[in-house]
Amino acid sequence: MYKHPKIAIVGGSLTGPTLALLLLRAGFDDLTLYDAAPALATRTGGVMSLENTALDVLATIGIPQREIVTGRSDTIAQITVRNRRPIKTTRIPYPGRFTTWALLHAALRARLPGSVLHLGTRIVGLHESVRGPVVVRADGSSEPADLVVFADGRNSIGRRLLDPGRQTCYSGCVAHRGTSSRPGDPSGDFRRYDLGQGGQFNLAPVPGGQDWIFGLNASPNEFRAWFGVSPGERSYVTDGQIGGSARSRLDQEAVDRLPAAEAHLVVSTRRRAAVAIMDVDPPTSMVWPIGAGYAVLLGDALAPPRPVTARGANAGIEQAAGLVQCLRHGQLGDDLRDWERHCLPDAVATLERGLLISSRLGLGTSHTIPVLDGARR
Ligand SMILES: Cc1cc2nc3c(=O)[nH]c(=O)nc-3n(C[C@H](O)[C@H](O)[C@H](O)COP(=O)(O)OP(=O)(O)OC[C@H]3O[C@@H](n4cnc5c(N)ncnc54)[C@H](O)[C@@H]3O)c2cc1C
Repeated sequence: MYKHPKIAIVGGSLTGPTLALLLLRAGFDDLTLYDAAPALATRTGGVMSLENTALDVLATIGIPQREIVTGRSDTIAQITVRNRRPIKTTRIPYPGRFTTWALLHAALRARLPGSVLHLGTRIVGLHESVRGPVVVRADGSSEPADLVVFADGRNSIGRRLLDPGRQTCYSGCVAHRGTSSRPGDPSGDFRRYDLGQGGQFNLAPVPGGQDWIFGLNASPNEFRAWFGVSPGERSYVTDGQIGGSARSRLDQEAVDRLPAAEAHLVVSTRRRAAVAIMDVDPPTSMVWPIGAGYAVLLGDALAPPRPVTARGANAGIEQAAGLVQCLRHGQLGDDLRDWERHCLPDAVATLERGLLISSRLGLGTSHTIPVLDGARR
């Protein structure tokens, strides 16, 4: 039965398309990928670092580094700032390269056959039949599969259905983002500014300018004062949803905390976004038997690490590659369990690492989460 399983993937951002392309390459062509968004996303920027392991996986599906890498540098300049002055810079080699969400997403989507991709299709339910799982679309129609993979991000419907006991809570920290058309530092380094307690600023070149991420604390009430909604109601705030007072507040934070040139860059950036960082209870499973088939959680749907780890996209890509290895063996049950045993400790350890780094930076709440036995430190 599992020689040619029917596979449904929910989520078409990074993890889902990577999995789909790996599956197609391995000969699994009874495949459907659903995304709730109606069209190819046009989000720009979104700088992110990808480790060599993830870059190697992408190379196997025909995505060369030259298509997605934003510059020649593979160095992080770690800059300590106190009283708005850089007091120390350490250059650290990064075991990977820098890209952006937009570049990677476009490269993945460009390679997906139209017959696989079902945009504008929100999955709202999962039923069990004798054969296996059945995904339910928002229009009420449904589709059976042998394997359903939820790669639908941190607010995953899959996680809520399969693992309803796991709580999501606001971390107390917001990643403000912006893309400036000003040319970046000629070195092309990814610059990470340690601002002391309660803040971090990242700056990196992207095609056509520079992308910055300004991590700041905000209580739920402060978040509401900035953006007019609670973090639970709207965790991703787009440019059009950022009002004048939120812009002025961020400008003031930049002037108060950043060196003059970086503050000026923030103040002069028109195009902005903000992400309320949400924590999800650590997973204890990533595979669920459903009838004679299975459902699986991958990427941020499984466990969204805090951005300070720079691991979320990396983890999703690595997990997708591991899942395809399992399917190649043709024995879903045992192999999926082995894959789960391999992946789960890493996923949990990454969540924990996010809390530790955040706590060192004074970002967000610092509650601790339980660690599975054998989790990698
Ligand atoms: C500020 C910031 C910086 C970051 N930096 C890095 C970094 O340097 N390195 C790194 O590795 N990671 C980084 N990350 C994390 C990375 O962006 C995420 O881990 C990654 O985008 C997760 O990809 P995903 O495909 O698993 O989920 P998502 O990108 O969240 O995509 C989920 C997709 O599922 C779709 N969807 C949701 N619900 C449904 C539904 N019910 N039906 C159908 N479709 C649905 C959505 O439309 C979306 O397209 C960063 C994150 C942030 C916020």
